[in-house]
Amino acid sequence: MSVLSILVWPDPRLSQVCAPVGKVTEAVRKLAADMLDTMYAAEGRGLAGPQVGAMQRIFVMDAGWKAGHPAPQVFLDPAIVAASEGVESSVEGCLSIPGVRAEVERPVEITLAWTDLEGVERRERLTGFDARCAQHEIDHLDGIVTFDRVSAIERAALLAAYLP
Ligand code: ZN
Repeated sequence: MSVLSILVWPDPRLSQVCAPVGKVTEAVRKLAADMLDTMYAAEGRGLAGPQVGAMQRIFVMDAGWKAGHPAPQVFLDPAIVAASEGVESSVEGCLSIPGVRAEVERPVEITLAWTDLEGVERRERLTGFDARCAQHEIDHLDGIVTFDRVSAIERAALLAAYLP
């Protein structure tokens, strides 16, 4: 396992749509382990493939480790199959956009379908931080970052203050 370097916006790879993972190979398992190492080393709670230059539909998440309840999760080929009408705004940071905190509106609840590292198809309803984090990471798989989720005025203000 190893810690990978995290790409920083505006690296063009952060604006690309990623390809499906498909079959769970040893390379996919190694990538997932490295991504978890990298996320913990960077003190993050979520990390998506393209953030480490892996242009595949994979993300890792651990909502509880900072509070002493580690629960590492790996999501392959995730898809949001349902989203609540209710939305909520909250501030989001991003390991690829250091120093920027953007207020982003997102559905409060989602139903997520994905494949796990055993190749098993999973489906779960996510709420709270998990729902927000998963939506943020899936955005990365579609080449979308927080700058793309705010108004033009807010984007200009955030960019003016952004010093990568
Ligand atoms: Zn991010």
